[in-house]
Amino acid sequence: MSNHPNYSFFQSVEKSFDKAAHFTKWDKGLLEQIKACNSVYSMHFPVKMDDGRIEVIEAYRVQHSQHKSPCKGGIRFSEAVNQDEVMALASLMTYKCAIVNVPFGGGKGGIKINPRQYSVYELEKITRRYTSELVKKNFIGPGIDVPAPDYGTGEREMAWIVDTYSSLKPGEIDAAGCVTGKPVSQGGVRGRKEATGLGVFYGVREVCNMPDVMGKLGLSLGVAGKRIVVQGLGNVGYHSAKFFRENGSKVIAIAEYEGAILNENGLNEEEVFQHRKATGSILNFPGATNITDSSKALELPCDVLIPAALENVINKDNAPNIQAKLIGEAANGPLTPEADEILINKGVVVIPDMYLNAGGVTVSYFEWLKNLSHVRYGRMEKRFTENMNAHIISQIEHLTEKKIADTERAFIMHGAEEVDLVHSGLEETMITATHEIMDIWRKNPEIPDMRTAAYVCAINKVATTYTELGIFP
Ligand code: NAD
Repeated sequence: MSNHPNYSFFQSVEKSFDKAAHFTKWDKGLLEQIKACNSVYSMHFPVKMDDGRIEVIEAYRVQHSQHKSPCKGGIRFSEAVNQDEVMALASLMTYKCAIVNVPFGGGKGGIKINPRQYSVYELEKITRRYTSELVKKNFIGPGIDVPAPDYGTGEREMAWIVDTYSSLKPGEIDAAGCVTGKPVSQGGVRGRKEATGLGVFYGVREVCNMPDVMGKLGLSLGVAGKRIVVQGLGNVGYHSAKFFRENGSKVIAIAEYEGAILNENGLNEEEVFQHRKATGSILNFPGATNITDSSKALELPCDVLIPAALENVINKDNAPNIQAKLIGEAANGPLTPEADEILINKGVVVIPDMYLNAGGVTVSYFEWLKNLSHVRYGRMEKRFTENMNAHIISQIEHLTEKKIADTERAFIMHGAEEVDLVHSGLEETMITATHEIMDIWRKNPEIPDMRTAAYVCAINKVATTYTELGIFP
């Protein structure tokens, strides 16, 4: 959940936590410990700019919980960065990792700059200096704290971080695991780019496969034929739309900031993306109707609404007009707490951001494991599987005296590549997490919504770890 006029972002996370903690039986002191940020590192360091000026940079790294090591969470480059925001985001990472069974504590970092106002060389100096400050205080490392990309950062910054870390830690064999979201050539993993959108799809699909939930919403089972509205055609929105379309859903509308387009027969996200690239706008897409007020797309009649752009887009003003039965929070904090209440009363099921958009961190975990094992996924077994499958096919053909069609043969033969294993691990993760949350919700009908059930799930897991560690016997 995002910013609220009456309390800070961190306080609003605490409020959601308290609401859920009410449905658990854990000791009050233990709950206090889970909520608190364990370590907050606030720093200032000087960087010489291209014009010779020295600028003092304000930056943070917060380790919310060390109940599992390492801590994990992105680094954000934004002018809006402040300690409260980094603390809130770090605590959300603890809960997110717990829900999807990624064995990390939560962390988050931020540098208070607008990256567009700096040259690439200046950004490199800032990123490298930030990394060496983290090294000095033992705030980074494959077993300590592992950053990742967030707003304003990407593969390029992660490559600078791993290079700086490795040069300061000569001989550290697992140095590549000090950060994730790296380019594949620098120890990154295939399948990271689409991970969040694919995770969104897997999570929503699993809910759509639950007869009790679909029955209550008056929807048919499965994602096939579902009418979907997607807000935001960025990384997450594009890939969510792609996987829904490929699995038989109809993406009837896509909204971008300049407007939205509607076609009841379904839109192809790649064609829309190319149209926007060529014309500079999503509007006037062949065969679609323009909606000039983009936010009105959120109010279209549809089965599933996927806000994948910004926070607070569904609020007390437009929540009463929402017609979707199911909302998949692909973005972080797309609903305000007031909207949440309104939608609960309308009977809408909201699949919460904290777990639905956990595909990125899940695949980051796979990247970290790859770095620690020093081997690409699939390298050891791909050829073995293909040889074995070829043998099985030839035996079937021999015994039945029938030939298997070429396309089927290729499909069955195929041994898993890295990307296949990453997708499969993500699918397993999202399915398991969906069931764990839903089981908590089903067992306690007083829990008002899936978001609270997700928090209860997270609290139970973190509290269990603390208890088993013996800190709170
Ligand atoms: P992105 O920048 O690639 O895409 C966001 C898109 O939303 C852009 O195309 C932008 O033009 C569009 N947009 C902006 N304002 C809009 C408006 N008013 N109406 C409609 N569209 C608008 O970002 P992203 O990586 O796709 O992230 C989207 C959301 O998902 C963010 O909230 C982010 O925090 C969250 N998220 C992303 C990841 C990830 O792995 N990328 C992981 C977890 C959560």
